[in-house]
Amino acid sequence: MTSHPAVIRVAVPVPIPGALDYLWPGPGAAPGPGCRVRVPLGKGERIGIVLEHVSHSQIDAARLKEALEVLDSTPILGPDLLEALRWCADYYHHPIGEVVSQALPTLLRRGRSPMREPTLGWRLTDEGRSQTVALIARRAPRQGQALEVLANGTVVAADVLRELGIGGDTLKRLADKGWIETSALAESAAGPIPNATDVAEPELTNDQSTVLAAMADGPAGYRPFLLQGVTGSGKTEVYLRLIRRQLEAGRQSLLLVPEIGLTPQLVARLKQRFGDRLALMHSGLSDRERLDAWRDAYSGEAKLIVGTRSAVFAPLPRPGLIIVDEEHDPSYKQQEGFRYSARDLAVFRARQLDVPVLLASATPSLESFYNAQQRRYEFLTMPRRIGSAGIPAIRIIDLNRHAARHGLSTPLVTAVERHLANDNQVLLFLNRRGFAPVLFCAECRTAEECGRCDSRMTIHAASGQLRCHHCGTQKALAWACAHCGGERIAVGAGTQRVTDELTALFPTARIARLDRDIASRKGALADVLAEVEQGDTQILVGTQMLTKGHDFPRVTMVGVLSADQGLLGTDFRSNERLAQTLLQVAGRAGRRDQPGEVLIQTHHPTHPLLSCLIQQDYTAFAKLALAERHETHWPPFSHLVVWRAQADARAPAIQFLQRVAGEARSEAGPVRTLGPAPAVMERRGGKHRAQLLFHCSQRAPLHDLVSELLGVARSWPETRRVRWSIDVDPAEL
Ligand code: ADP
Ligand code: ZN
Repeated sequence: MTSHPAVIRVAVPVPIPGALDYLWPGPGAAPGPGCRVRVPLGKGERIGIVLEHVSHSQIDAARLKEALEVLDSTPILGPDLLEALRWCADYYHHPIGEVVSQALPTLLRRGRSPMREPTLGWRLTDEGRSQTVALIARRAPRQGQALEVLANGTVVAADVLRELGIGGDTLKRLADKGWIETSALAESAAGPIPNATDVAEPELTNDQSTVLAAMADGPAGYRPFLLQGVTGSGKTEVYLRLIRRQLEAGRQSLLLVPEIGLTPQLVARLKQRFGDRLALMHSGLSDRERLDAWRDAYSGEAKLIVGTRSAVFAPLPRPGLIIVDEEHDPSYKQQEGFRYSARDLAVFRARQLDVPVLLASATPSLESFYNAQQRRYEFLTMPRRIGSAGIPAIRIIDLNRHAARHGLSTPLVTAVERHLANDNQVLLFLNRRGFAPVLFCAECRTAEECGRCDSRMTIHAASGQLRCHHCGTQKALAWACAHCGGERIAVGAGTQRVTDELTALFPTARIARLDRDIASRKGALADVLAEVEQGDTQILVGTQMLTKGHDFPRVTMVGVLSADQGLLGTDFRSNERLAQTLLQVAGRAGRRDQPGEVLIQTHHPTHPLLSCLIQQDYTAFAKLALAERHETHWPPFSHLVVWRAQADARAPAIQFLQRVAGEARSEAGPVRTLGPAPAVMERRGGKHRAQLLFHCSQRAPLHDLVSELLGVARSWPETRRVRWSIDVDPAEL
């Protein structure tokens, strides 16, 4: 052994690019990679993760500080996760400390144990048992009741006692007398896994069997699959069968979904099939629940981990399979801070864990579609719906010929009437919440704008407010114009106004609304969904929340109130997003045995994209769109990095990026530098935003350039005056 103390390299959660070196003073050997250590930083202390041992540091040994304490005897991050996180820091050009910290639940970052702690309850002591309950009950009825409940010797959880009206005070008094004590509750959570024969599994369709056979056939280990299956073709059933196979082999599956709150049906279906061997990971959990889910994954007890984006960092000690549901969904890309793509990382992890990965969607992303064309992914399809309903018919309503009133044209209203008369349900889709998007004064021709953003305030009539949907600014709604005193009007329609209009048109119909304003109330989302599912709701008006995976059996009509926002989009991905959204919404119509009808309102009825979508041939669309991307050198035929900056005024943001651009252009190489230019919405939340785009047909030179630029730019004084970030493989420009 060497005589000088070991140096450990630690990822510390601070926004500096690299890891920090510390001396390990002992006692004992230096903690291994993946263990948490407490280290000094500045005037304080932090908990970091050991990345590696280094033989010698760049920093002079005399100046290295000593680590204070090790928290783990076995690593909480396995070598696979450490490797993935280091790759992320490198690929996404994000500080390793923040990357690592984001992969861990908050309570682990604060030093809690990675093992499940036994949950404590109360039981009687010997002394407690010798008391005469009746006597005590006369003086202190609650205490008497507690002794009675605990009399048979079992350990009872505090919340069960609370339900019986026995509170903390009572328990404390009894404990002080030495009559009761805490003790571990018996484990009851991990119940038996239901047998395949216990739960009704439907007989597979031919398409489902073919897909499952293709996946089972062939070598074990890493294999990426892309499954394109129309809505209602039975993709979820395929996942369930695959997960069961893994479960029976004692292996874990990771299922990524775009948003769990929106898919209570899926969670219910998983619970029914797999009992409690399920860990859920999503943003709606408390810190404690998140820690418990992580612990169940870490111990290997949870055989199925279902989660949103960040669940891609779940520990999988016994990995068997990774599935990404609705793989095209934009929510897989984190849009701030550490801007990773969970879909891409799912493929990375499958490769390193040597397990199959299934990307599935009715409308795959063009990137994945291209990978399948290039045979990097095995391509599987399920083109038929289950049941006899078939694919719904899509009809375009030309708004130039049929003017809409508050978002609704006459042909659309007539169709709604017809479907209601047949006792069916109708979904209406409008990507705009609130009452109306513009408060306009016809006299001085001005609209109410947000003072902090380049955008208009949305009218929220019910709450008597104007709100900015970009920065959250609110003010009282005043109909009199602030400039000229004229009477102002509401222009355009949001979900609230459409709902009001429908209520006027169909006074006896049961109408519900689903958007973020509704969903922000606790429990409201589940209530709305349940009411639609039970058939209580006849018309549901909603935003893009409606596109996500609901299975409403009695919906026969879907109306898209405006396709125009998407058609006129400026981003190279606008067309792809619109096609995905429209086909996903259309997929809500006519499931099982009811034929469906989809109506799309637009001012651009002859737009080629719409003609393509009427055929409902996503494959044809994808091929066309890919040909166009090829022509114009956009991804997947090129790679992009966006360098964004924001400041209190336009000049500093632009000047900073100009300096970066100048530096980039002085390098000879294949990377093209475009901009800087102000962001599409330049001012947002009081900040002026600008961006610089790097574009290259290969990844390596692009990343080399960005690394180099970062190395230089970090030393510039203006780097501290603007806030900036790097976005690799941006989801939008
Ligand atoms: P997707 O995920 O492709 O939208 P699902 O798996 O949710 O499709 O299936 C749609 C509906 O068909 C669900 O109600 C499901 O229970 C049912 N289903 C799935 N597979 C079968 C099958 N093999 N036989 C009968 N019904 C099925
Ligand atoms: Zn604003």
